[in-house]
Amino acid sequence: MTDHGAPVSLPGWHRVYSGKVRDLYLPDDEADARMLVVASDRVSAFDHVLEPGIPGKGALLTALSLWWFEQLGGADGGEPVPNHLAGDQSEIPDAVQGRAMLVHRLEMLPVECVVRGYLTGSGWAEYTASGTVCGIALPAGLSNGDRLPEPLFTPAYKAPLGEHDENITFDQTVELVGADRAAQLRDLSLSTYRRAAETAAARGLILADTKFEFGIRNGELVLADEVLTSDSSRYWDVEAWRTGTTPSERMASFDKQIVRDWLVAAWDKTGTPPELPAEIVERTAAKYRELIDRLTLA
Ligand code: ATP
Ligand code: MG
Repeated sequence: MTDHGAPVSLPGWHRVYSGKVRDLYLPDDEADARMLVVASDRVSAFDHVLEPGIPGKGALLTALSLWWFEQLGGADGGEPVPNHLAGDQSEIPDAVQGRAMLVHRLEMLPVECVVRGYLTGSGWAEYTASGTVCGIALPAGLSNGDRLPEPLFTPAYKAPLGEHDENITFDQTVELVGADRAAQLRDLSLSTYRRAAETAAARGLILADTKFEFGIRNGELVLADEVLTSDSSRYWDVEAWRTGTTPSERMASFDKQIVRDWLVAAWDKTGTPPELPAEIVERTAAKYRELIDRLTLA
């Protein structure tokens, strides 16, 4: 299997940034306002990039993003949500074909638009401590993995590239982007989440939560970054959720939870994380493939 871990050099493009998972390239032609977002096979957990990568992950996440952009562009019958895809995707260099998106370079808003339809992860941790999620009071007696009375918009401040994001209130979002933009972000995030959750539900999947990023182009709000991938979202199997009796049975997920669980047991979080065993890599790859098959082949 070809290794899609390390960034490659692409004629006509220069690499400007490498995140934990993706590499960003700009055209050598400065007048060209596009950007190439290349998804690698790298996998990260607890802010560490792990070895080895998950073969095919970059291609699967890219395919999933493109499929969702198409659904949200109107293929699902809804009102089209403008997105950042730029023109002909066949202009993508061969070396990264299948795991790259050619996009318009936007002025990004510094807000991660998180929507939570279910209580888990950091939301569950906060709820057990204070009965709230991102400061929003919730009814007592909820369990890990429960559906929330209604989906919540819980924004985070998008720290400069590579730094840690932090949860913010809606008022702080208003301070960052203004009242109108903040309301627009909240409403579009919630409506897009509901729409995607419906699409997922029709395929036996729960979209527990997700994160969107938006930018501005010609004054208009545009959906950017990756969308509704297993890196930016939690997906669960609806049958397992209904019938499961423990949190891990209920939240049988399609993301790198397998990697996280293995790592928690195998590593004390000091020094370099241990290498992932082949069996964990293969199970994770299979889960990613299963998610895309269930969504797109339905
Ligand atoms: P990490 O994922 O490693 O924690 P990161 O978020 O900085 O860090 P990436 O998600 O790989 O790394 O980086 C992608 C970057 O590109 C993000 O900062 C995202 O906001 C930005 N981005 C996405 N789409 C666009 C776009 N159309 N125009 C400009 N910037 C974009
Ligand atoms: Mg990111």
